[in-house]
Amino acid sequence: MTPVGRFAPSPSGDLHLGNLRTAMLAWLCARSAGGRFVLRVEDLDERSRPGAAARQLADLVAIGVDWDGPVLWQSRRREAYRAAVDGLAERGLVYECWCSRREIAEASRAPNSPPGSYPGFCRELGEARKRELRANAPRPPSLRLASAVRGFAVADLVHGSRTGPVDDFVLLRWDGTPAYNLAVVVDDAAQGVTQVVRGDDLLSSAPRQAYLASLLGVPEVEYAHVPLVVNAGGERLAKRDGAVTLADLAKAGTAPGEVVRLLLASVGSGAATLREALDSFDLGRAPAEPLAWG
Ligand code: GLU
Repeated sequence: MTPVGRFAPSPSGDLHLGNLRTAMLAWLCARSAGGRFVLRVEDLDERSRPGAAARQLADLVAIGVDWDGPVLWQSRRREAYRAAVDGLAERGLVYECWCSRREIAEASRAPNSPPGSYPGFCRELGEARKRELRANAPRPPSLRLASAVRGFAVADLVHGSRTGPVDDFVLLRWDGTPAYNLAVVVDDAAQGVTQVVRGDDLLSSAPRQAYLASLLGVPEVEYAHVPLVVNAGGERLAKRDGAVTLADLAKAGTAPGEVVRLLLASVGSGAATLREALDSFDLGRAPAEPLAWG
């Protein structure tokens, strides 16, 4: 089966070298296997910056990443997310949750609770208490998945087979914003994605997403969670680390073509352009450790 790969940036600012390298790897994985490549702008949350998406797309083009079909904008797909939640709710797989972040953080510090996971308080609320909360709570409830499992296995090209925790994660936030995990699964399915190559900071989200995909009856994807680019101190690269975007690097005298060569070298390719790198591309040759920059 020829893969369909994707890149799904959040438009919170310009892409930095870590994002560009991930985009490049995702593109090379799909295109080197003769596959399609699609793009999605994950512009649902409050960190989205006007104009950032356009600059991100232009930077992708500048390094040689192209894509098939129209770009999918998450902010235009609220009905699709709502429909998925309604379908799950009809099957009794959704419940309302009034817990605050603080309550959840305090509870998840308890022994035997995986960090950050939801302990399920609101799943057991009785009808009378729910009526009271609906009438009197300071804000509307978020909607959570009533998960039937505690863990789920995913296949990852870099990390092998991995089982990770699955909790009753949020599907719709209290203000109606679709949660990241829901939107990713609904959209990967809508775009026909079969291969998800992304930063390994999202490896722990994969079991939740794969489980949700199984509930929604959408095909399983193949994952490759690739190492991040880190700064001299070993932390994930960020804007504050200096010249790390294409625009900053160009100002500092490194043209986009040179950036592409450096990034390709960092994944074991001696090619000068992404197209040239296609024939001999092998994800297995990319280092499994984070790439240090600066
Ligand atoms: N939008 C996410 C990010 O930029 C990536 C989501 C994904 O690849 O699943 O970090």
